[in-house]
Amino acid sequence: MTLRLYNTLTRKKENFQPLKGNEVRMYSCGPTVYSYAHIGNFRAYVFMDTLRRVLKMNGYTLKHVMNITDVGHLESDADEGEDKMEKAARKENKNPYEIAAFYTDIFFRDMGRLNIERPEIIAKATEHIADMLDFVKKLMENGYAYETSKGIYFDISKLDHYPVLSNRNLEEQIAGARVEVDEEKRNPYDFALWIKAPKNHIMKWDSPWGLSYPGWHLECSAMGRKYLGDEFDIHTGGVDHIPTHHENEIAQSKGCTGKIPAKFWMHVEFLQVDGGKMSKSLGNTYTLDVLQEKHIEPLAYKLFCYTAHYRTKLNFTFESAISSQKALNRLRESYLLHSQGKEKVKEEEIEQYKQKFIEAVNDDLNMPLAMGIVWEVARQKQKSEQFANLLLEFDKVLGLDLEKAKQYLEQQEKEKLELPAEIIELVEKRKKAREKKDWAESDRIREELQQRGYGLKDTKDGMEIELLQKKENEG
Ligand code: AMP
Ligand code: ZN
Repeated sequence: MTLRLYNTLTRKKENFQPLKGNEVRMYSCGPTVYSYAHIGNFRAYVFMDTLRRVLKMNGYTLKHVMNITDVGHLESDADEGEDKMEKAARKENKNPYEIAAFYTDIFFRDMGRLNIERPEIIAKATEHIADMLDFVKKLMENGYAYETSKGIYFDISKLDHYPVLSNRNLEEQIAGARVEVDEEKRNPYDFALWIKAPKNHIMKWDSPWGLSYPGWHLECSAMGRKYLGDEFDIHTGGVDHIPTHHENEIAQSKGCTGKIPAKFWMHVEFLQVDGGKMSKSLGNTYTLDVLQEKHIEPLAYKLFCYTAHYRTKLNFTFESAISSQKALNRLRESYLLHSQGKEKVKEEEIEQYKQKFIEAVNDDLNMPLAMGIVWEVARQKQKSEQFANLLLEFDKVLGLDLEKAKQYLEQQEKEKLELPAEIIELVEKRKKAREKKDWAESDRIREELQQRGYGLKDTKDGMEIELLQKKENEG
């Protein structure tokens, strides 16, 4: 069955076929690691995960690069303001390398919680400075770049077409838009390739233009080229990347190699919150931890993402996320019921569902349609192991870790455990006794709790309490 994907470059859905053999070479713009990634960012990575999984389902192998931007992303995508990393480092009174290491770790922890597959190659900008310098030198040689007092800039007037990705008209935009007036720039939309470091900039490297650092757009072009070659299959990012970041990546690559680097450019629409923009000032840039505090698992957020097509806006509310949590639990329960089912279903029926599912995901990753088929199977009155296996097959694309349905449900039961006031009081009393090293009293309270049906476990993070009677009843 043909896989069709929407290409921002041609503004239409096209049949997908890798440029070379069976391997899909793909680049995804990754996080700038100056802060916690929020659920909006994770919508972009859930999309990336779905795309990976659908490509694999179609029998392709992957060589997928995702960058970690740990230098050079200025406050505005159009090269204005300060380097986000340096600003965060100053605010937190740390070194920018420490900031990068800290938020990169948390980013991958959260990617794991969302069961998002890790791209084959993770490329940190600061580890590819030499490749980036080569790229700028080539642009200089080819006559596409020039030096100003601030750095090295790309001259967009040297291109036959700019922009090519966004539908915008530069003349109109220049007349109306807020573009920084820089007398030294040849054209208002020329952008920085390489930035001369101010004295207090910590991340900087030797270059023919003094101590300096790469611009964000250049980083992606150089790392993509290094691992995937001058032309590869797919480039992904959020819709915010269309007018500036990806437009500039294309410009740079054309200046360096004469080619648009990727055949397909795919962009995921934004997540909104309560019908509006997510922003720090509104306090609605929620992290997965904030959701978890409200008993919404990362995987429930992933399922929530499947309620809209990736090319449409998705509106987040806690109410709808709680519904997704309930839906995820229902899916788990249905899977478990089917897995114990003894009924026999005709193979053609299973095959039909499979085909419908493939048709949906192969139509530009239509996840809402695919979920409709998942639910049809989950809700079958006839309980059959064949349906359970089919759901596991679907889960290769959904990535909801359905195989561990039982463990997730049990974990939730534990967390949901609401303790009566007198039990909380006893637990508090025991905590105090332990602080005073009154072991006899601590043990006495433990026994009392046990008699009331609560087990206690001391862990390195504190105390864990579980309802013993309930377990026995269940068992
Ligand atoms: P950043 O770390 O700011 O470079 O962003 C990482 C990724 O998240 C990029 O692909 C952005 O396009 C994407 N992104 C940022 N905000 C949102 C949002 N509200 N909804 C969806 N994607 C977003
Ligand atoms: Zn990028």
